[in-house]
Amino acid sequence: MRRLHELRHEFVEFIPDKLEPGVLYISIPYATTTHLCACGCGNEVVNPLAPHGWQLTFDGRSVSLSPSVGNWSFPCESHYWIRRDRVDWAGAMQRDQIDAGRERRRREIDRHQSGTNSELASPDTRSWRQRLRTLLRLE
Ligand SMILES: [Zn+2]
Repeated sequence: MRRLHELRHEFVEFIPDKLEPGVLYISIPYATTTHLCACGCGNEVVNPLAPHGWQLTFDGRSVSLSPSVGNWSFPCESHYWIRRDRVDWAGAMQRDQIDAGRERRRREIDRHQSGTNSELASPDTRSWRQRLRTLLRLE
């Protein structure tokens, strides 16, 4: 497998079913980003954008995600930062950081699901949240 060192970002409304390697898909309406793991393993990585999830920075040319992307639920356990469309590889994460990150995301998704916003409660969004939870292996 070949580790990528850059990603091309693409703003979309809906995340496509078939993802291209090396592309970071960003859906502002659904406040989420998705890409295939930058290690080349082919797993789908979903990073929801939220105050306590990930934050996206778009400088007009390139995007950055914060905090880092830690794919500890995949066999590759790859960990990297996406900064200005580049992939900066990091070492293995500590176990307690992994657990804290997972707990944070679980709370964030639960909060979205119990939201009273009518748009958030639409059937489409509900199935999207369900897919998100499955992808994140929180269930
Ligand atoms: Zn991987």
